[in-house]
Amino acid sequence: MSTPTPPFSDEHEELRQSIRGFIERELAPHAQQWEDERWFPDDVFPKLAAQGLLGLKYPQELGGQGGDYLHEAVLCEEMAAIGSGGAAAGIGAHINIATPPIWKFGSDEQKQRYLVPAIRGEKIGALGITEPHAGSDVAALRTRAEPTDDGWMVNGEKTYITNGVRADFIVTAVKTSSEGGHHGISFLIVDRGEGVSSSKLEKLGWHASDTATISFQDVFVPRENLLGGLHEGFALIMANFQWERLAMALGAVGAMRLAWERTAAFAREREAFGRPLSSHQAIRHKLVDMATSAHTCRCVTYDALRRFVAGEEPVREVTMAKLLTQRASFELMDECLQIHGGAGYMREYWVERAARDARLGPIGGGSDEIMREILGRVLAL
Ligand SMILES: Cc1cc2nc3c(=O)[nH]c(=O)nc-3n(C[C@H](O)[C@H](O)[C@H](O)COP(=O)(O)OP(=O)(O)OC[C@H]3O[C@@H](n4cnc5c(N)ncnc54)[C@H](O)[C@@H]3O)c2cc1C
Repeated sequence: MSTPTPPFSDEHEELRQSIRGFIERELAPHAQQWEDERWFPDDVFPKLAAQGLLGLKYPQELGGQGGDYLHEAVLCEEMAAIGSGGAAAGIGAHINIATPPIWKFGSDEQKQRYLVPAIRGEKIGALGITEPHAGSDVAALRTRAEPTDDGWMVNGEKTYITNGVRADFIVTAVKTSSEGGHHGISFLIVDRGEGVSSSKLEKLGWHASDTATISFQDVFVPRENLLGGLHEGFALIMANFQWERLAMALGAVGAMRLAWERTAAFAREREAFGRPLSSHQAIRHKLVDMATSAHTCRCVTYDALRRFVAGEEPVREVTMAKLLTQRASFELMDECLQIHGGAGYMREYWVERAARDARLGPIGGGSDEIMREILGRVLAL
């Protein structure tokens, strides 16, 4: 077992080894098939649940492991080893963005109805915020929820939703009043059922995940499915952004480490002009720069994580970590691909997929441009 780097301890390193073993045995061998089939099976969720991996940060009385964000951080970092960005995204959407709002804002009854089965892997969740006309500008969303005697009637469309086909419930941002801007947004937990239809989207990477457009046509949502306060949904959107972005940064840190190790091994073995690639100065320097970038990303991310678990509100550090790691990861994957030469362009090599999968990072969870806008404000520019 390697020496833990703060904020992680020996306990986290033990968890890391156990997660690595599980991923290597149970998930990684199927990655190629899942990517080819453009789908990973739903039974991955109960398999993860049996290992306690869907509830690492949730309390034991709800079926969780009673851990905290640091335990979850280990899982986020290790998921790159699945070898399928799509599968990691589907699992990540369930544990990092769909269930946390229910944990933080849900009533006891909502937790029993949604969070408990989600931790058991019996119900799969999605978070539905983005719409065809409202991505970065979340406040522009148009999906409407009209009040009825005992709930709401929902009409509208969400798009690019991870787990959008398979999700049993969608934690959905809707407009509950005609007020503009950030006002009048609420969250409803929408069950898949009458009036809810999904269509899967084809995309550059993350092939095994079901990114989808979800349309709501006269969907009745009962009063008891309002999550948090009426018209107070914007606060709920903001509440989980820090963790979502940290989770993405941690995912990139894990992916960069793995990609570097594999590429360095390849460069030591593959020969050109009678000697290993790694002994050519241009390649050696490239690998050194990549290792430096991976290490920098790790330090910046761990610093943000340490502050986050200490209860600070490290908007600056988390935003910087998200901004730095997502672009750096894509650039590192591209260099890895280059070092593999023609092989790197072939489907049979892991690096072709890793490079495509990494392209999402600077777009999803708040784009690079939006991270810069946030930092501009934080830095009082
Ligand atoms: C594979 C995938 C999975 C996703 N999963 C989910 C999910 O599970 N749930 C969910 O709700 N959403 C999800 N999303 C949506 C994602 O969060 C949005 O795509 C992202 O926020 C960007 O929004 P947009 O695509 O509408 O781009 P736009 O907001 O239209 O932006 C287009 C471009 O303009 C730039 N831009 C926008 N505003 C500014 C500005 N003020 N200044 C400078 N540049 C600007 C953007 O950075 C971007 O480069 C997913 C997206 C993808 C691709």
